[in-house]
Amino acid sequence: MDYIEVKNILSKVEHGEEWFGADYNINLYRGCSHGCIYCDSRSRCYQIDHFDTIKRKKNAIEILHKELASKKKKGVISMGSMSDPYNPLEKECQYTKQSLELIHLYGFGVSITTKSDLILRDMDLLKKINQKNDVIVQITITTADDELCKKIEPGVCVSSKRFEVIKTLGQEGIFTGILLSPVLPFITDTEENIKKIVQLAHQNGAKFIYTYMGMTLRDDQRDYYYKKLDELFPHMRSQYEKNYRNYYLCISLNRRRLYYVFQKECEKYGILYKMEDIIKAYRAKIEKKEQMSFF
Ligand code: SF4
Repeated sequence: MDYIEVKNILSKVEHGEEWFGADYNINLYRGCSHGCIYCDSRSRCYQIDHFDTIKRKKNAIEILHKELASKKKKGVISMGSMSDPYNPLEKECQYTKQSLELIHLYGFGVSITTKSDLILRDMDLLKKINQKNDVIVQITITTADDELCKKIEPGVCVSSKRFEVIKTLGQEGIFTGILLSPVLPFITDTEENIKKIVQLAHQNGAKFIYTYMGMTLRDDQRDYYYKKLDELFPHMRSQYEKNYRNYYLCISLNRRRLYYVFQKECEKYGILYKMEDIIKAYRAKIEKKEQMSFF
């Protein structure tokens, strides 16, 4: 099993108001084997060789323990920015589970982004943290079509399974919603897909959906994506080359119409979609509890 040693694990998040109110960030693994064809973490700037082979950060839990014990300011710790915290190695290593135990012990909150149903294994811990601190879970869903999902996100459970995860977490009182990102131009940027995701989100009790109507593409990430397009969607690459050349941000050509449809659908079902509303809503629960215990 590959591993690396690290000096630090907890980093400060500068603009948490733009990312689910996170105060700190942790990545317990390096690389990810979920194989999403669009993954931004493959970009050269992150310098992760052999990205698809996950490496555990051998001393991550020991370092996290020390760092949490010494932090004066409590806050929400975000997981899942560079690697899925519930990747296949987690079943064996249980680093995410151990870090949740520490987060609970030291009175922090947590914000988790994942595509995996393995998160349900840690339900009891999430519920314990949720009693006194903020918990928010973002399940990433980019397509409502399981067959398409198997092509673009081949190493993790399909979208229908992820909707079930949303339902189960919600039933246990965990504030859960969808990260509808990326939206792949010419592949998932259809009104039909956006509407279906919002409808299924409603049926499964999602509290929010946060989206960005496009994707990023740069250097190694672009090379990998184009290679996969050639395999999975012949002739699609030329559409990208023609419309986006070497752009970093590749926003859907239908973005205005799609965002309008998205907003209308979310409003119809009472699903939150603005970042400030999402943050306010999941934090309100703890504030309410504090007020009640005060009185
Ligand atoms: S789950 Fe996230 S980190 Fe892993 S391959 Fe997919 S996009 Fe990349």
